[in-house]
Amino acid sequence: MSTEEKSASFLKSLFAGEIEQEMIFPYPKMKPEAQENLQSIVDAFNEFARDHIKSEEMDRLGYIPKNVWDGLKQLGFFGLSIPEQYGGAGLPQTAYSRVFEQICNYDASLAVSLGAHLSIGSKGIILYGNDQQKEKYLPRMASGEKMGAFALTEAGAGSDAAGIQSKAVLDASKKFFILNGGKIWITNGGLAEVLTVFAKTDMVENGEKKEKITGFIVERGMAGFTSGKPEEKLGIHGSNTTSLNFDNVQLPVENMLGPMGKGFKVAMEILNVGRLGLASGCLGGCKVVTKMAIEHAKNRKQFGKAIAQFEMIQEKIARMVADTYAAESMVYLTTALADREEVDFSLESAISKIFVSEAIWNLSNEAMQIAGGIGYSRDYPYERILRDSRINLIFEGTNEILRAFVALSGIQGPGEYLKKIGKALRDPIKGFGLLTGYAVQKVKDKVAHDQLTGVHPKLSDEVAKFNEYAKALHQVTERVLMKHGKDIILKQFIQRRLADMVIDLYAMIAVMARVDTLLKADANEAQQDLLVAKTFIDEAWRRIRRNHRQIDENIDHQRKQVCELVYERGGYPFKVNV
Ligand SMILES: Cc1cc2nc3c(=O)[nH]c(=O)nc-3n(C[C@H](O)[C@H](O)[C@H](O)COP(=O)(O)OP(=O)(O)OC[C@H]3O[C@@H](n4cnc5c(N)ncnc54)[C@H](O)[C@@H]3O)c2cc1C
Repeated sequence: MSTEEKSASFLKSLFAGEIEQEMIFPYPKMKPEAQENLQSIVDAFNEFARDHIKSEEMDRLGYIPKNVWDGLKQLGFFGLSIPEQYGGAGLPQTAYSRVFEQICNYDASLAVSLGAHLSIGSKGIILYGNDQQKEKYLPRMASGEKMGAFALTEAGAGSDAAGIQSKAVLDASKKFFILNGGKIWITNGGLAEVLTVFAKTDMVENGEKKEKITGFIVERGMAGFTSGKPEEKLGIHGSNTTSLNFDNVQLPVENMLGPMGKGFKVAMEILNVGRLGLASGCLGGCKVVTKMAIEHAKNRKQFGKAIAQFEMIQEKIARMVADTYAAESMVYLTTALADREEVDFSLESAISKIFVSEAIWNLSNEAMQIAGGIGYSRDYPYERILRDSRINLIFEGTNEILRAFVALSGIQGPGEYLKKIGKALRDPIKGFGLLTGYAVQKVKDKVAHDQLTGVHPKLSDEVAKFNEYAKALHQVTERVLMKHGKDIILKQFIQRRLADMVIDLYAMIAVMARVDTLLKADANEAQQDLLVAKTFIDEAWRRIRRNHRQIDENIDHQRKQVCELVYERGGYPFKVNV
């Protein structure tokens, strides 16, 4: 089922002022059999990883050694998310994410490379492949005989992925597409045997000639297909990143993936899932660096006591723990949503990617700070983890693009409703029903907006904070829409703040659902979780409050003026007179 066909979206409803509480509460739980199965996979991985995965070595070598790949193939890791009928383990998203988290406990390059094979490399064939394509490719991808990759980005089209220029033209026989063009920054680009590649194709729609993106399966070995030399990168050195070149590659029409002209949608659906894998990997990293920071803070003595005793260090550690707790709550809530067929989780997955990628970046920075000088040394893992974590803010949609996506997709629902209201106002007789509905909604907004209910009383302050700003989100969305109309697309200062409000609201509700479920099961057992939850929610609420206020009270026009000034002067133009 594609995102458009799915009926339920928690966050899209939230923008529209509705709290679909039953989608989130009680916090999801894995069935015991699934948990057992997962544990055996994680145990097998840990046993292998302890002896074979050497992050420092892979960082230095710039590749993942053959014995690591071979071991993972033997363990069946190349087929973790590939359906059982094609030889994979068919793990649902939740279990897959748990394994990914574990892989990232050991090495980020490995997680990125395996993620490029599974989360995005084979996903297109699973989601959009026909039976023949699935039978032809998936078993060999699951066994590890053929590695996968996902190739969308081009030199002129990164964030603006719809602007790709690679072109596939149907030849006269109508049996082949001839593919020309190139890709850059492709993970596994030099290793993959089966690549999901996107290119423009000529189409006629409603009698009009158009160029639209289509997905294709490209195989290594096809004449005219080559990959470049591995890129030298800041981090994730073990992963292989190359350009791809297509010079009159003859692609059988059977290699078209998904419907002709629907490639952009195919790519976005793949990335919806991919972002969850990425967030899970980052979560593994958050746990690792938090543990490292705690251990170091307890062991390192300065001024006659452990640095863990100093409040500036305690502030950092408490925030690291609270953010990791929120990241974990969010990731596993979202994977459970993704495992439900009818749920559109596109916003939740984008938010998980933003939140957890920024968490691992900030946390590895804080861990380095707590480590002091040794944090900066190549003899310790801090600097590698910091380098490795930076990419997550850039790929699979930069965090800026994803913030715009979250805000604009969220706004779309209320926007369409308000557009209808606008039309109804021009023709009030025809639009009477709609206008009455709108008036009722406005009264409802004033009297009793959708509220979280039935949450454990120990979370009542937090529930009040959530309710207040869930309502504020809806109201401010309507207000900015009324003010800016379709120009809202250009208003990124507002989009950024709306996105950050909803990111924190989602984190808050994920944390609350988790702790509420624990409290109701055993209030004593839940005390520690409650403490961390309250710590996180207080900080998230302060951020939301600030973002909400600044939608109206800001100095955005001054920021624009500063940019105009320095853009014109071509750099920093000021001189100090000393
Ligand atoms: C190590 C690595 C691995 C990768 N793996 C893959 C892969 O396997 N497959 C694949 O297809 N791609 C891959 N990529 C590409 C990656 O997805 C892109 O780099 C990313 O989408 C950004 O595109 P860009 O580099 O062209 O940056 P640009 O699009 O030029 O963006 C530059 C900056 O401008 C900002 N920006 C751009 N447009 C807007 C806007 N409208 N509003 C606000 N800010 C904006 C961006 O957020 C960013 O900060 C990989 C990249 C790297 C570095």
